[in-house]
Amino acid sequence: MASACPTIVLIPLCVPGHLPSMFEAGKRLFNSCGGGGGGAMSLTVLFTQMTMSANLISDVDDLIRKESGSGLDIHFHHLPAVELPTDSPGAENFIMRFIQLHAPHVKAALSGLSSPVAAVVADYFCTTLFDVTLELALPVYAYFSSSASMLALILRLPALDEEVTGDLVDMEGAIDVPGMPPVPAALLPGPLMTKGPNYEWMVYHGKRLMEAAGIIVYTVAELEPAVLAAIADGRCVPGRRAPTVYTVSPALSVKAAPGDGERPHECVAWLDAQPPASVVLLCFGSLGGSFPPPQVHEIADALERSGHRFLWVLRGPVPAGCGAPYPTDANVDELLPDGFLERTKDRGLVWPKWAPQKDIMARPAVGGFVTHCGWNSVLESLWHGVPMAPWPLYAEQHLKAFELVSVMGVAVAMEVDRERGNYVEAAELERAVRSLMGGSEEGRKAREKAAEAKALCRNAVEEGGSSYVSLQKLAREMLAYCGCEAGASAS
Ligand code: UDP
Repeated sequence: MASACPTIVLIPLCVPGHLPSMFEAGKRLFNSCGGGGGGAMSLTVLFTQMTMSANLISDVDDLIRKESGSGLDIHFHHLPAVELPTDSPGAENFIMRFIQLHAPHVKAALSGLSSPVAAVVADYFCTTLFDVTLELALPVYAYFSSSASMLALILRLPALDEEVTGDLVDMEGAIDVPGMPPVPAALLPGPLMTKGPNYEWMVYHGKRLMEAAGIIVYTVAELEPAVLAAIADGRCVPGRRAPTVYTVSPALSVKAAPGDGERPHECVAWLDAQPPASVVLLCFGSLGGSFPPPQVHEIADALERSGHRFLWVLRGPVPAGCGAPYPTDANVDELLPDGFLERTKDRGLVWPKWAPQKDIMARPAVGGFVTHCGWNSVLESLWHGVPMAPWPLYAEQHLKAFELVSVMGVAVAMEVDRERGNYVEAAELERAVRSLMGGSEEGRKAREKAAEAKALCRNAVEEGGSSYVSLQKLAREMLAYCGCEAGASAS
């Protein structure tokens, strides 16, 4: 039951790349509003019954258990299940229609709260729910779990759509993403390349984000200053200024070190037996890590020939006809080349299932990260100052790979053949791993930049840092909406 103080309502998209960071950021916002101590505000989370990965379901259960026993004024509300759309031609289309079906339940939940709603914060894939908040006259903020560069592109998209008659991928020259160097069209997110139902939804979001009271972006202001300036200067939408952007990253919840008698995870224990900065981690997000057998062999060859220590999160195939495209556990004996495990047993670990990536990343042995460039993974890496080699696989990851290498300089370039299903040759991966882990000027520069990024990330969340200040500003605005004193916020 919600209490009588005003509440901030979070509506997350229940997938691993969106929910955890939104919840952590929401909690910090709630603390900034005085929720952590003074009781000025409560937090309400509305969960959709998304087809989640088993891992995320257990994370959500853990989270509810932990927070429910924390004594904080946080309330969890599961929305009724809806029938899943069966005829969606793609992930974006599926998600948008799925969320849209929740509108009456969200309306009922918001109307039924016993607390006045200070503000609604909805994942940016939930902009169809803005109709509900408009109808109920509630301020709505969008939560954007990706980079500011992706936000700039999405905000720019409706105008781009009018400027370009054909498919964006066929555009001559480069795409103008405000604040970024010219972006080759071949690096566009998959759904934006050709016009169709998935593309249309992204254009829709671009338009609707402009209606938000503000956009909360999971980035660090100092990591993407030019793009954020372009958004603030109104360079994304001709003649219109975008809603205020609040940068709130990083908001990582890393499990505490195991207590007495508790065994560390096998990956963590293995890492702790390796020298500092000696291991290259390969992990590809919630949907990646499952490669066709020839690609698995190329990776194995590359790792073997590189001579470096490695921790490789290898996943099995995605079950056919399954609603949620999450990979299964890998059968390593079947997938890996004969003798590979034996030959590399002194310097490598192949982990065949979901790995505790945040905890892994925190171990001093991790010296480089071959990543699919999911934004959470990128920020987890930068939080620890770990340089990357980008291997983009889906969504907007090619754009981020470009940003990591060409704008931030925190990654070494790696040639990924998008036309061949993002194939990487063994020799190229071997070269990138060697470069990342030591032997090149490029690797040295990436390490230096990653170390700088680590300092920026850490400063951002300190008192007076950009993310800290942003959250305070947002908290004051939300408190003012519900008539609470602006100065009521705690730290
Ligand atoms: N993750 C993890 N173990 C895995 C794979 C992924 O803990 O084996 C976590 C990772 O740390 C990150 C999230 O899942 O926090 C994935 O989000 P990201 O934005 O990196 O990629 P996405 O899954 O959205 O493509």
